[in-house]
Amino acid sequence: MSNNGIFQSGGGRVQLSEEEIKGRIAELGAQIQRDYRGEPLHLICVLNGAFVFMADLVREIDLPLTIDFLSVSSYGSRTESSGEVKLVKDLDQSLKNKHVLLVEDIVDTGLTMQYLMNYLGGREPLSVKVVALLSKPARRVVEVEVDYLGFEIEDAFVYGYGLDVDHKYRNIPFVTSQGE
Ligand code: IMP
Repeated sequence: MSNNGIFQSGGGRVQLSEEEIKGRIAELGAQIQRDYRGEPLHLICVLNGAFVFMADLVREIDLPLTIDFLSVSSYGSRTESSGEVKLVKDLDQSLKNKHVLLVEDIVDTGLTMQYLMNYLGGREPLSVKVVALLSKPARRVVEVEVDYLGFEIEDAFVYGYGLDVDHKYRNIPFVTSQGE
């Protein structure tokens, strides 16, 4: 099956192929499986961007894990986060007696993650760690620790594999960036 139509309409170039992403997620899943064996692991997907990553990651972790979802929106424009984060959809389940793993699509300024770590930490989990598919360290405004990272990327706006441009292109099966 060809994805050329979608790809060309986005006008970008591929940065991370489907194969690269799949391979890296298998490694992350194996690492998480080793680290959380015998523990009550609870994965929290940050909607909307992390939904594809979450779906692939959980199938690489052979543990009796549980999942939940939350959604946040950031005030300000898409490319310049203001740091004010609003919870749009809250969790359905309690975090008590659970080891939480927050599943993020991309860490950019770090402001969303900082907000979420504070928020989740206040709900009495046993621990909170983060797995992110992508990180742009050059854009960081606050120091945040990413415990499991897929790929470090340069400072470019990327989309596909769950990430959007004005709500579009989330279904592209690879990660790409505009221009060049
Ligand atoms: P932060 O609060 O600046 O770290 O932004 C995190 C959120 O901004 C991510 O979860 C994404 O939803 C969005 N974001 C940041 N960079 C990109 C990008 O390059 N493409 C698509 N979304 C992005």
